[in-house]
Amino acid sequence: MDLNLEKKVGIVTGAGGAICGEIAKGLAKEGARVAIWDKNREAAAAKAAEISAAGGAAVGIACDVLSKDSVAGALDETLAAYESVDILVNGAGGSHKDATTSAEMEFFDIEPEALQRVMDLNYMSAVLPAQAVGRIFAAKKAGAILNISSIGAMAPLSRSISYSNGKAATSNFTQWLAVHMAQTYSPAIRVNAIAPGFCLTGQNRFLLVEQDTGKPTARGRQIIDQVPMGRLGQPEELAGAALWLVSDQASFVTGSIVVVDGGYTAFGGV
Ligand code: NAD
Repeated sequence: MDLNLEKKVGIVTGAGGAICGEIAKGLAKEGARVAIWDKNREAAAAKAAEISAAGGAAVGIACDVLSKDSVAGALDETLAAYESVDILVNGAGGSHKDATTSAEMEFFDIEPEALQRVMDLNYMSAVLPAQAVGRIFAAKKAGAILNISSIGAMAPLSRSISYSNGKAATSNFTQWLAVHMAQTYSPAIRVNAIAPGFCLTGQNRFLLVEQDTGKPTARGRQIIDQVPMGRLGQPEELAGAALWLVSDQASFVTGSIVVVDGGYTAFGGV
């Protein structure tokens, strides 16, 4: 199957991290030129260097996707490097201890600012780049947006309150934007999402692995027991679905949320 991604330009936010770093590497392997947007400047530069060393084309750009000015600046830098944009992957997101219930943190005591921060990180993180890059797609009447939602959007994950709420908003936004872009600007602007299951990465390590022993936490073990495949996912296992959705092979697919979870959401627990 030819994905026809050669010469396309893709922006991948949060690509200094695990999952979106793999998506960025996958895009570059298929011949796309990739702009890595990440709040962590060093991580963005390192991922771009890794891709370049492997023969791909990539540029690392420091960007806080929750700041309209920072997004505008990153887009300017991307256009200066590559002239155009064809693909936007909204991957920046994550959970945080401050907005997660635990033995030390009851729901009643969570600070509203902490809830809002995690909500923004998992919802506005998709909206702001989609506004900036979507304007370019509207003008050229083509483009593909891929949001990274979560299985927590479908049935909320215990403890992770605003993470689940924010991802639910992102799934809903994916469908809204798919309809809006197709009806208002062009049916050739497609908007989809993937909903990854559990992968061990920087954003959830504190929940899944004991810091001192490296062994699974009770929650980590509970999750593995709920996955019919009996394991956590690897970040690179998300790239296949992501590349397909942003490619012309998915030309009639918009407003879809593709689950990649080892069977977790298909399992009723019995
Ligand atoms: P990660 O922590 O490895 O990567 C997240 C990256 O986002 C980091 O490099 C971080 O610097 C960047 N980032 C954070 N805030 C930012 C901001 N304001 N602006 C720009 N960049 C910012 O996490 P990951 O597990 O690779 O997660 C990638 C995406 O996949 C996230 O949206 C996450 O919620 C989602 N997801 C992950 C899992 C999982 O099990 N790991 C499951 C479902 C969904």
